[in-house]
Order: sequence, then structure tokens, then C-alpha cells
Amino acid sequence: MTRAQMLHRLQAHTGEWDIIVIGGGATGVGVAIDAAARGYDALLLEGSDFGKGTSSRSTKLVHGGVRYLEQGNVSLVMDALKERGTLRQNAPHLVSNLAFIVPNYDWWEAPFYGLGLKLYNVLSGKYGFGPSQILSREETLQRLPTINREGLRGGVVYYDGQFDDARLLINMVATAAEQGATLVNYCRVTGLTKDGNDFVNGVIARDEESGNTVTASAKVVVNATGPFTDAVRRLADPSVQAMIAPSQGIHLVFDRSFLPGQSAIMVPHTSDGRVLFAIPWRGHTLVGTTDTPIPEPTLEPSAKEEEIQFILKTAGQYLHKVPSRADVLSVFVGIRPLVTAAKTSNTAALSRDHTIHIDPSGLLSIAGGKWTTYRHMAEDCVNQAATLGQLPERECVTRQLNIHGFHPHPEKFGQLSFYGSDAAAINELMEGEPDLAAPVAEGLPYVGAEVVWAVRHEMARTVEDVLCRRTRALFLNTKVAREAAPRVASLMAQELGYDADWKARQLAAFEQVASHFSLEVDASGGIYP
Ligand SMILES: Cc1cc2nc3c(=O)[nH]c(=O)nc-3n(C[C@H](O)[C@H](O)[C@H](O)COP(=O)(O)OP(=O)(O)OC[C@H]3O[C@@H](n4cnc5c(N)ncnc54)[C@H](O)[C@@H]3O)c2cc1C
Repeated sequence: MTRAQMLHRLQAHTGEWDIIVIGGGATGVGVAIDAAARGYDALLLEGSDFGKGTSSRSTKLVHGGVRYLEQGNVSLVMDALKERGTLRQNAPHLVSNLAFIVPNYDWWEAPFYGLGLKLYNVLSGKYGFGPSQILSREETLQRLPTINREGLRGGVVYYDGQFDDARLLINMVATAAEQGATLVNYCRVTGLTKDGNDFVNGVIARDEESGNTVTASAKVVVNATGPFTDAVRRLADPSVQAMIAPSQGIHLVFDRSFLPGQSAIMVPHTSDGRVLFAIPWRGHTLVGTTDTPIPEPTLEPSAKEEEIQFILKTAGQYLHKVPSRADVLSVFVGIRPLVTAAKTSNTAALSRDHTIHIDPSGLLSIAGGKWTTYRHMAEDCVNQAATLGQLPERECVTRQLNIHGFHPHPEKFGQLSFYGSDAAAINELMEGEPDLAAPVAEGLPYVGAEVVWAVRHEMARTVEDVLCRRTRALFLNTKVAREAAPRVASLMAQELGYDADWKARQLAAFEQVASHFSLEVDASGGIYP
């Protein structure tokens, strides 16, 4: 799977595509898999890298959403729990079972959350991840040795799924390609073409690497651009009413000492009425998230000072070792593509369900939902697209479709288990060239062979692609990721045949992105971002 091959497929294609998908996040790639697996001729164009948007910046949970249960949204929860089970079945190398503990400090919390979480488990039926259980104070401390002990009465444990969002997405791109879809990254849609009836019938895009203009026509065009949905809708009709109310959520990343066990903490009610998670992830501790309405989405959003303060303060109430600003190894920000039902300033109250909207121009937009339900969203979307584009009716097959890398025993690949069946080939790279077995920087486990693999088989084009989404270095530790950047640039330049100028430009561009993930004190003593 190389970008050159994909561009070649695009250029060699004659006539109309069945479906063109705009946007290479979980939603768009899910649609491309579904469409291609049904036998439709599908093209997907992503303006940046696959997963550059929200889909690499989630809390990394495959979950039914305990919070929605409290809101009485049982069907949303049941649907997501079913999808949780399907995803674990189809991508066992990327979805694992994680214990979440709700710590109890008040007498009523154990019976209240005990009952609610029992219902959560019952709703998952045969897709269950494990029974919930009330824990004594001692059992809670055993599982969460760093929890704040003052006033602690006990806890309730329940089980949900955890995954690596960007890695799943890259494996999904491979799955779509294997099913016959054509997917190109760094190809931004800048315009939509229309037929004599003023119906959208294609796209105009810009190849961001060559600067060339690409045009393609289709029976139906699907807009899956998440937070940017309205901007693409306005390419067809500048007067459309906005359907997205963007809201950002941040996560702070700390080292493992803040949460050394195998269990996560779930705080059901923070002072702003949200849920907060502290999660062990990739040898680190992830804490989030916030829900802050923003006026306009951007591709590289920054954390707001009040969000940072809120997470530090709330985490400090539940952790024995209170985290400080200096402990933050990385901060990342994602934008929720929430769909507006009515005018409201409270984005936490907006529906987390997905919406499929067809404008009078015939442009089909799909937005909202969540990572966990991407497959179901895609099924609904392709059903609608097939009707709209008058495509031959075909059954959805993705419930039983393995994701690229599927392996029933990924644990046997150790550090490379997340690559699933690809791990063997990465091991071979290291055996053939022992230099590639060395880590790209001290402090994170990523090795040179993963960089080479990402360039050769995963369409990685920039240092950022490798350090953010093929590996998760920048999300885990900005300092180590910066140290790794020169080695990654050298390996990539060698693979791609680029010179020292390219390397220098890449390092400057990476530094620009890295500044959004850092909480550093600048020369004036101020904090950025
Ligand atoms: C903080 C946070 C935490 C979350 N945690 C979870 C969780 O734990 N579990 C869960 O299930 N869900 C979670 N979600 C929800 C989930 O992450 C999102 O619903 C999902 O990632 C949205 O995917 P998307 O493809 O719709 O959008 P995106 O991932 O943003 O993808 C849109 C893509 O469109 C591209 N694009 C935009 N304009 C153009 C154009 N003109 N041409 C071509 N491409 C274009 C962008 O570059 C981008 O890559 C979370 C969301 C947030 C914000």
C-alpha cells in the first residue's frame, strides 16, 4: 500500500466512481471499507494524513458509554456495546479488555453505581467484557494503589474496551485497500462539481505534494469530514445552515507512576458534570477529558489554560500523588463533530448519536457518533448512499470482516503485538538489518524498522505521520518524540529518496506540530500553548 500506487489507481480510473468519500478519519475510512466490501467502486480523499483529525485524539475507549445510560439513552448504549463486541472480534490485535474502577467516597455510591454498572453488563448480553462487582476499600487499594485514600469507602469495577485509535485507522485503510477501494492521503477536496440539475456529481481536489489538480466524478459523494462537515457542505451551497457545533476535549499524559496498576479510574461526575478517566495506556497514564465549545474547528487545535487547570485539579482530587504541570509529558486535543439539534450552548447535552444528512444538492454528509460505532455508522451511510446514487442493492458484510492485522494471538509478538499479523514482517526487517532494531530515541519502545515499515506499507509521508499516527511517540512524550525526529527524518529520506533540504523542512514542520502537544514555559515565563 503506497501513495504512488494509490495515485496510479486514481489516474488510471476511467468513468464515474460509485462513491467518493471526502475525509480519512474513522467515519470516512469506515464508509470506504463498507462500500468496497459490498463491491462498489470507492475512492477516498483525505486532505492531510489519515487520522490527522479527531480520530487519533480520542480517549481510546471502545465503549457503550456509561454516561449515556445515566441519561436514559439505553438504545444508544446497547448499540455501542454490540459494536464493542464486534470490533474486539474483528480486530483482537488492537482491542483489549480494561477494568475501570469507580472509587466510592459516599455511602450511596456503591449501591447506586453497583446497580447501574450491573445493568451496563446485562445490556451487553453475549458481547460482555466481564461482570461488574462491588469492591471493598482494601480491594480498591490493591487495584489502585495511587488512589486518594482519604475518605475512600470502596469502589465498583466494570469492564470496557481499550484500543489504539490511529493504529486501528491505519489498519482500516489497509482493509479498505484490500477490499478494492482507492485511498489517497494529502489530497484535499477544494471544490465540488455539479450536473445540469445542480446535483453534486464529483470533486475537485489538490494533491498537496505535487500541487496538481485532481478531478473525479461519482454517482454519490459522501462528506465524512467530521468537524469540517459544514465547510465542505458550503462548497456545494454557501448558504447552508451549520449542522456541527464543534467542541474540544483535551487529554494530559503522565508517566506510569501516577497509575501503576492494570486498572483505570472512572470519575462519573466531575465539578462540571462530566466524566473523567485516568487510564493506563502504552506504559503511560492518560487523563481526560474536557468539553469546551469552540467557534471554528482547526486541524491542529491547542489546549486552553482553563482545560489544563481543570484536569490537573480534578486528577489531584483522586490521585494520592497530585500531578503538576511539570509532570505533563504531552497534551493532545480533539474536536467532537457534534450535530446540533437546536440552539444550545451546552455541547455536553448534544446527541452523541450519528446523523446522516442529505442537502438539496445531493451531497450526503455523515457526522457525530463515536469511534466505537464507526462500523454501524458506515453501514447506515452506505445504505443511504446506495439509494441516493441508484447503485445495485447489496448487503453489508462488515460485521464479519476482519480488520487488517487480525491475529488470534497477537500477544506472541510482544512489543509489536499491535501490528498483529504484520509483526512477523517487521521482525524480518530487523533480522535483515540489525541497525533497525535500535529504538529511534531512548525512553519509548519504537524502533527504526517501524519507521521503514510505515513508509513502505502504511503511506507515511512525513515525520509527523510516523511520530503521531504510525507510532504514538508525540502523544506519549513530546521530549522523546523531538529527540527521535532527526533519526526518523533520516530513515524516511533514505527510503523516499529525499535530500537534506527535505529533512530540514520536515524537522521544522514537526517542531511546529510538537509545540501544540507541549506544556512548556517560554522565555517570558508564560506558558504555551
Ligand atoms: C476528546 C475526545 C475523546 C473521544 N473519545 C472517544 C472514545 O474514547 N471512544 C469513542 O468511541 N469515541 C470517542 N470520541 C469520538 C470519536 O473520536 C469521533 O467521533 C471520531 O473520531 C470522528 O471521526 P470522523 O472521521 O468523523 O472525524 P475526523 O477524525 O476529524 O476526520 C475528518 C477528516 O476529514 C479530513 N478533511 C477535512 N476537510 C477535508 C477536505 N476538504 N478534503 C479532504 N479531507 C478533509 C480531515 O483532515 C480529517 O482527517 C472522542 C472524541 C473526542 C473529541
